[in-house]
Amino acid sequence: MPELPEVTTTAQKLNECLPGLKITKVWTSYNSSYFKGKNQIKDPNYFKKFCKNVSGHKIESVTRIGKNVLINISGPQTILIHMKMTGHLLFGKYKKFPADKQSKRPEEQSNYWRTTETGPLQDQFNHYIRLVFELSNKKHLVLSDARKFAKVTLIPDGDIKKFKDTAEIGPDPIMDKLSNSDFEKILNTKPNGRIKNVLMDQTLIAGIGNIYSDEALWMSGIHPEISPKNMTSDEMKKLLKNIKKVLKKGIDFGGDSMSDYRQPDGTRGDFQNHHQVYRKKGSKCTWKNPETGNTCPGIIIRKVVGGRSAHFCDTHQKI
Ligand SMILES: [Zn+2]
Repeated sequence: MPELPEVTTTAQKLNECLPGLKITKVWTSYNSSYFKGKNQIKDPNYFKKFCKNVSGHKIESVTRIGKNVLINISGPQTILIHMKMTGHLLFGKYKKFPADKQSKRPEEQSNYWRTTETGPLQDQFNHYIRLVFELSNKKHLVLSDARKFAKVTLIPDGDIKKFKDTAEIGPDPIMDKLSNSDFEKILNTKPNGRIKNVLMDQTLIAGIGNIYSDEALWMSGIHPEISPKNMTSDEMKKLLKNIKKVLKKGIDFGGDSMSDYRQPDGTRGDFQNHHQVYRKKGSKCTWKNPETGNTCPGIIIRKVVGGRSAHFCDTHQKI
């Protein structure tokens, strides 16, 4: 799932190309009876309202709150997109094709969209186009979402803090001034929780998921199953420093494309080539003891912690 660095990369890159463009038309193939009556474009009735409220409006900016991308448009509402498991936003030239009943791809068996550009937008992970915004420069903003979990809705301007998706998000380690004492207070609200799960709870701290929690805990020498009540202030301080460091590193590398995530031009981020621990089960630990300068002799292991897989080294990350 895209985490803070991936969502930041998407919002930043889209903010370089979308402002000033007008949305002329919207298309979607999302349609799910499960979402009937809910404020999401997966409900066809809501989608009709959505089209009416965004068509003809100019894009003013693209920002981020937690793992949500916010597209601020002229008029009284903002488009909120949560990319969830496999979604990512792309920008380029696209064309609608008629249904191909012979196609082996289910999404091509009814009308579908493909890029007309050569290059990274052709990456197979970019082919699951579920939502298309046609823009005034004849280009398109599209959402590729293989597993169809993404959420797209409108929120009234000024209501961001009242809206469930955006109100119930903890402080942002990059955008907010999250101090050591704030962080300590947050962790201590879950004294008996397991630190990995506490870090990934979006209502406590925004933007951290599986990848960056594993990396930050490894850097800090903290076991993913330790409870905040058993952590010292120094450990919490070190952890916050490393969370900020690893998230910034993720942004610098344009996000992580080990799975579906791609940048808006279709290219891969590069953070997956800089993992020290995430999905490195069986690899030698490369952690260096800051006091002795010696490399840890441990091996990376994988263990399910609170339903999520944690990758860590039980030699230098002891409980
Ligand atoms: Zn180690």
